[in-house]
Amino acid sequence: MATILDTFQEFAKIYNDARSSGNNEVAMRVGKNILSIAEAQLSQPDLSATHKEYYRQWYVQVHEYMSTATKKLAKAKTQSSGDNNIADNTDWFSADVPNLTMDDVAGLVDVKEEFMVNIFAPFDKKYSPIYYRYRKDLGLQILLYGPPGTGKTHIVKCLAGELGCKIAVVQIKDVMARLVGDGAKIIAAVFEQAQKYDKCIIFFDEIDALAASRDDDESRHTKEQLTTLLTYMDGFMSKTKPGQIKIIVAATNRPWALDSAVKRGGRFETQIYIPLPDFDARKKLIDIAFGKDRGQKNRLEIPCNPDVTSEWLATKLEGYAGADIKAICKQIINKPLKRAIFAEFKGIKCAEDCVTRQDCLTVIGEYINSITDEMLLEFDAYKANMEFKEYIKAILRIDVSRLKEYARRWLTAKGLLK
Ligand code: ADP
Repeated sequence: MATILDTFQEFAKIYNDARSSGNNEVAMRVGKNILSIAEAQLSQPDLSATHKEYYRQWYVQVHEYMSTATKKLAKAKTQSSGDNNIADNTDWFSADVPNLTMDDVAGLVDVKEEFMVNIFAPFDKKYSPIYYRYRKDLGLQILLYGPPGTGKTHIVKCLAGELGCKIAVVQIKDVMARLVGDGAKIIAAVFEQAQKYDKCIIFFDEIDALAASRDDDESRHTKEQLTTLLTYMDGFMSKTKPGQIKIIVAATNRPWALDSAVKRGGRFETQIYIPLPDFDARKKLIDIAFGKDRGQKNRLEIPCNPDVTSEWLATKLEGYAGADIKAICKQIINKPLKRAIFAEFKGIKCAEDCVTRQDCLTVIGEYINSITDEMLLEFDAYKANMEFKEYIKAILRIDVSRLKEYARRWLTAKGLLK
């Protein structure tokens, strides 16, 4: 549990970083927090002399900076008000509340349970005053991580629909498409706009690109983006009141690449792993693709041979992500479609106008699975809170750096290598 001093020191670090990178807006924002914590701490009667001096010095320094910077910033804002600032002009919450519910998430029973406990309960009218009374922040920050195509984005949209929330989806392409350095402006704009809504979700897709580890990426803009994100996240959390629903969700395929500050000090405390679809999830995805799902009222069922059942196909598609299953099903359905078109073209009767097992096996055989075993092992290592190499060493009980030597020994023992 982070102490007040820890939080203060983190703010102080962000403040120093912002000042050295010349980001006055962030420095001012963090400066406000520094002043209010320092003020509160200085009024504590039992504060030690060392701490009193420490907070006093910070108070004086930041106060001085804030007064001069306020004037400068006001002047700069007036001068740049004519600039064409794309980030500020985008309405990030323009999309309607998604017409989806958690029932639109196929399978993933464990994930839905996690959502029940961590997300739905705190916002239930019954419990939210209790959370508030005990100073538990009502705003939620959730990190969804897992292999690509497992439905992280889809789940967030279903969550927004279920809770009746407006949603802002910030994708890395939105940031990349803009000018270098606009990342911080985009983040600020999204959070500012979120203040207008009582029920909203800010969703950062591929957060690893926005909040990459500072050890890996030393660029000034990356640091600035991260600092802005952290500052706004903290402010967003503390302002949420009972009756409001404010959630920040981030998704990543590479949780280990995130800067540790994003996962520390109450931020993204709830991390939920989104795994590959289980049997039921795969079956439902197949049913949806083939128009067999009961929810798909206006869709005709794709004609299949009697031995091509969703159950059979679901067993064949173990190890594939939801996105891949959708793509595979589409390709399978294309097979009899092509035959039917071809027959029509030639004016002959189509011999096989249904999906056959051979159609399925051909497509699956040719499809390159986007999920690799190594990828899944990387997630297992992250869940076990271990470095990848250490994890492999632990599960194989061998030293990975000596793999070649082991292989040579094994082949020699088998007489395959002289
Ligand atoms: P991710 O964000 O994890 O990369 P997406 O949410 O973009 O994955 O999912 C890709 C596609 O696969 C979406 O169209 C989504 O509808 C579908 N999908 C994946 N998993 C599921 C699931 N469990 N339930 C419903 N649809 C899913």
